[in-house]
Amino acid sequence: MSSIMLYAEVTKENYLHTVLFELAYKAQELSKKFDNASVSALLICKSGLAETFKEAFINSGFDFVYIAESNRFTHYSTELYSKVAVDIINEVKPDIMLIGATTQGRDLAPRISAALHTGLTADCIGLDINEKGQLAATRPTFGGKLMATILCKTLPQMATVRPKVFKPAPENIVKDTKFIYIKPEIDNIQKKVEFIEFVKGLNTSINELDSAEIIVAGGKGMKNEAGFELLKNFAESIGACIGASRGAVDMGLASADIQIGQTGKTVTPKLYIACGISGAIQHIVGMQDSDKIIAINNDEKAPIFEHCNCGIVGDVFEVLPELTKIFSNTAS
Ligand SMILES: Cc1cc2nc3c(=O)[nH]c(=O)nc-3n(C[C@H](O)[C@H](O)[C@H](O)COP(=O)(O)OP(=O)(O)OC[C@H]3O[C@@H](n4cnc5c(N)ncnc54)[C@H](O)[C@@H]3O)c2cc1C
Repeated sequence: MSSIMLYAEVTKENYLHTVLFELAYKAQELSKKFDNASVSALLICKSGLAETFKEAFINSGFDFVYIAESNRFTHYSTELYSKVAVDIINEVKPDIMLIGATTQGRDLAPRISAALHTGLTADCIGLDINEKGQLAATRPTFGGKLMATILCKTLPQMATVRPKVFKPAPENIVKDTKFIYIKPEIDNIQKKVEFIEFVKGLNTSINELDSAEIIVAGGKGMKNEAGFELLKNFAESIGACIGASRGAVDMGLASADIQIGQTGKTVTPKLYIACGISGAIQHIVGMQDSDKIIAINNDEKAPIFEHCNCGIVGDVFEVLPELTKIFSNTAS
């Protein structure tokens, strides 16, 4: 029987990463085009944690969940996790292996593919099954100017997929999920890296931006730190998270973990407000699926205006303080 396996990432707060549920819904669609392939999850976590996730798996359309638990899995470890993942994949032999393109997934996936001598299409934004029953994985190439659809000649066909590219199922897909515990063989593995402490990045955490309903993003047009202060005040007045273009990151106005776009994050908030951002394609691919987009730019010909629902042609240094005043008054 054909099978699609998904890596179930556990976050440092001991939740299942939301990308799993996005991939789970997509996998149901792929399964229909792929001999009704089974959909399974590969879960590596600290002892006892899997029990707390069982309902989530049952409600998300998984046929099987392969679980490796150990107290050595309290924190993510490249060496331990890749060894266990490879062992399970060798045992189960899935045709397709999908992993979220998160920090952890981007570390783990190439290790697994190298160990299995198989191909990996990284950072995909589209997945399909072609007429030959192969995984057709699409990702941006040539600086985002072209989309390349890539086939993998070896098994498992592996891909990493950016969070927020796919939507989770709108309602539960309940299955009679089988939970299979596998004893991890890690006794002989000496870790070369030890977890000491987690240090949070500047500005905002990646997870906050991931789940934000409103994002105010600043670009080079914010010009300097004083400009970014205006942006932060405005974001605070409407309860938004802050994002940035690469232009702003390159100027040192924002940290790289809040960059949005092709080499940053993909976000899908209800409202995205782009301030002083020109609208380069590499930025657009990271925010174009937002429900509503507002752009503020003093150049009426800026490409961002072709991608927004509402545009304000004006100077951010004048518009943002006015908006902040209005929303601060509304809040009080
Ligand atoms: C391989 C590759 C990957 C990339 N990945 C990313 C990515 O992930 N994310 C990303 O963002 N970019 C990415 N880029 C860079 C991208 O091509 C653009 O250079 C970048 O997005 C430009 O940032 P910006 O819009 O802030 O700056 P600019 O393009 O310089 O635009 C600044 C805008 O601000 C406006 N402005 C200036 N002053 C004011 C004012 N006072 N009031 C209002 N508006 C004002 C200007 O009219 C202008 O439109 C990538 C590029 C490459 C080649």
